[in-house]
Amino acid sequence: MSAEVNILIIGAGPTGLAAALFLAERGHRARIVEKRATPAPWSKAFGVNARSLSLLATSGVTAQFLENGRRMARLNLHRHGRMLATLRLDQVDDPFPFMLVQSQADSERLIEAALGERGITVERGIEAVAIERDEDKAKVHLRAGNLNSTVIADCVLDASGASSVARKSLGIAFDGKAYNESWQLFDVELDNLPMPASDGNIIIHDDGGMFLVRHYDNLWRVLGNVPNMLDHLPNGTKAGRIHWESDFEIANRVAGRFAEPPFFLAGDAAHIHSGIGARGMNLGIEDAYVFASLYDRRQLDCYDRLRRPVVEKVVSQIKRAMGPPRPSTVAGRIVRAAPWLVPVAVNLVRNAAQRWLLGLDHELGL
Ligand SMILES: Cc1cc2nc3c(=O)[nH]c(=O)nc-3n(C[C@H](O)[C@H](O)[C@H](O)COP(=O)(O)OP(=O)(O)OC[C@H]3O[C@@H](n4cnc5c(N)ncnc54)[C@H](O)[C@@H]3O)c2cc1C
Repeated sequence: MSAEVNILIIGAGPTGLAAALFLAERGHRARIVEKRATPAPWSKAFGVNARSLSLLATSGVTAQFLENGRRMARLNLHRHGRMLATLRLDQVDDPFPFMLVQSQADSERLIEAALGERGITVERGIEAVAIERDEDKAKVHLRAGNLNSTVIADCVLDASGASSVARKSLGIAFDGKAYNESWQLFDVELDNLPMPASDGNIIIHDDGGMFLVRHYDNLWRVLGNVPNMLDHLPNGTKAGRIHWESDFEIANRVAGRFAEPPFFLAGDAAHIHSGIGARGMNLGIEDAYVFASLYDRRQLDCYDRLRRPVVEKVVSQIKRAMGPPRPSTVAGRIVRAAPWLVPVAVNLVRNAAQRWLLGLDHELGL
């Protein structure tokens, strides 16, 4: 079986879904295929920044996000039971001066629902297994169980995540550095935590740092590189049921090219990096917005030039902030444990830190 389409999107994570939505808003109907049979249930990216909220506003998705999520307008830095500093996002002059705390599963669900309202359905259980060129078009081989099919597309957006099928097939480099250090993540019920429940809280320990932010009720995200993290919660905190836990390692990598027409890379397919600053999903949503805008204007030849420098800059800032693993000095540990809050102590760059966290540190260039 073979079919022809204008745009094929591979992957229905936040990037692919947002791309389909931004295209639909501009009157373009994309076909979107996803290898998972059911939506991913994980809360992974729990911070939606101001930039994403503003990009999704015209579609009505932002209004639903705001109804569903929780606004986090302050970040506190703690050490030895004392609050050392606070970064106030609510001082930023922007319609969305906060980070919206919301499970990635909810973000995906709400974007997918908005697509459904526009008559676009994610085709689940379909994997893109190979790509090739067909003159100036793309040929993508799909598999659904035992059924194979082929799509000929004018243009393919690969939003299939870090193991990107197109990036690998096209031999595009994915250079960068992996940190040989384990991070842990828990979505866990916590009671009696002696910290503001409306704020994000970073605790500096002797051997790393941990970040605590409340999803809703008494369910908290606890994330960090302190070994056996739940044994290092502040005194008096009672940990209850763990809803999700995960161990992961960090790598900072950017694809050597984001475009090899008719193939384009977006989101984790094009860049992966530490969760510092909660930029991963948000940069993917931005990629999707720029891709859709350029597609609409028939200017996709600008995609790599507009996106790669922005992403490279953010990733190099994250890399610099991370420094070497497990430094021995206290100052080094603070940088290592909470680099995104170091500027808190420095009033001169406070405004830059606030805008960086909200994703407002650059223009889109459109
Ligand atoms: C623990 C954790 C916490 C995080 N916290 C944050 C945060 O707070 N803020 C933030 O911005 N980011 C955060 N991130 C990063 C964020 O989760 C990712 O950047 C984001 O999921 C990338 O979205 P994506 O759509 O590009 O890729 P993915 O989410 O990986 O989606 C890719 C999709 O493509 C599908 N797929 C893969 N291969 C194929 C194929 N061959 N054919 C069809 N479908 C395919 C996959 O099943 C998947 O659904 C976090 C990540 C982790 C792991």
